[in-house]
Amino acid sequence: MKSIYAVFALLLNISIFAQNHDKELRDLYYSAQFNQLVQVSAEYLESDSLNPVFNLWHGEGLVELGFFEEGKPYVQKAIENIEDNDTRKPWALNYLARIEFLSQNKLKAKQLFIDCINSNTNPKAIESSKYLLVELGLHDFYSEFEVVESEHITFHFQPNSIVSNIDEFVELRENAIQKISEFFGVKIPKKIDFIVWNSNEDAKKIGIKSLGFANPQFCVIHSRPNQTLGHEITHVITHYLANDQIKTRFINEGIAVWFDLSNNNRLEIINNQKEKDSTQAIVSIKEAWNNPTVYPEWVYYTLAGEFINRILDKWGRENLVELLKNQTYDNAVLIYGNEIDEVIFKLENEINSN
Ligand SMILES: [Zn+2]
Repeated sequence: MKSIYAVFALLLNISIFAQNHDKELRDLYYSAQFNQLVQVSAEYLESDSLNPVFNLWHGEGLVELGFFEEGKPYVQKAIENIEDNDTRKPWALNYLARIEFLSQNKLKAKQLFIDCINSNTNPKAIESSKYLLVELGLHDFYSEFEVVESEHITFHFQPNSIVSNIDEFVELRENAIQKISEFFGVKIPKKIDFIVWNSNEDAKKIGIKSLGFANPQFCVIHSRPNQTLGHEITHVITHYLANDQIKTRFINEGIAVWFDLSNNNRLEIINNQKEKDSTQAIVSIKEAWNNPTVYPEWVYYTLAGEFINRILDKWGRENLVELLKNQTYDNAVLIYGNEIDEVIFKLENEINSN
């Protein structure tokens, strides 16, 4: 008898042990600590290599860090070893769909998202799959769009596109991506899917949020026809400078404005915007850097673009790339020293004095 109790106790312990591990890994995932997630789940897999939960967390962590090919066998192993009615199964299908999309297997990706939705066991995973079908341009809705391929971009034009010269539109953006990739020395994992809408209203009809924007993780851009050539493409390219990048709105938008390939006069735009502001706030660049929502949009876009222009001018490309990997003010001080405050002070004076 005793030995049976001992076995029960042991099984109970193992089960609680596994649950604790699961909670630990879940917390790492939802706090976006993906490096830690990959490291800790790898340790648990050493003694329990078929465990579907550990395999799935490990695979998801790798995908989130951009190592989708490395993550694939773990997600596949999770699918093989997980019960059909387990609520994790839909997440496994959802992540395999993401991997297939990043590997340019769009039909497979679409089918896996649909399988996830049809499994009907996990509302959050289903919601994610429905969202990604639309966001990644896989939804049936897009079958009417005109597809045009260039070397690095797959364009999807809304039917009856208001773009009058599609050849020129394509060529200008293909040239832009080559220029931007070359500057940063970055190769992205797949061609950009560049979806061109006629209007915000049309995009909203299928649940696309306000245009335009990039989803850099998946190399997808949703664009209005009249956006600058470089802004969204820069978001995608710079995302691939590091796997565990720390972004701030001020620097992330600043570099996209700096590389928008327009001939906009930033100081003139800033002055015009300031006149329109009802608050007429005195701008602290450090405050804007640390807090993404305290000032009007022009601070995080045009002013940030001008700030990038000045630090690039003064300290060059390599230092800027280091800053883009970790975009915090503290990292800027590590890279540029206290002289960064002089650049900030000078620009603030120019902006706030007129
Ligand atoms: Zn942007």
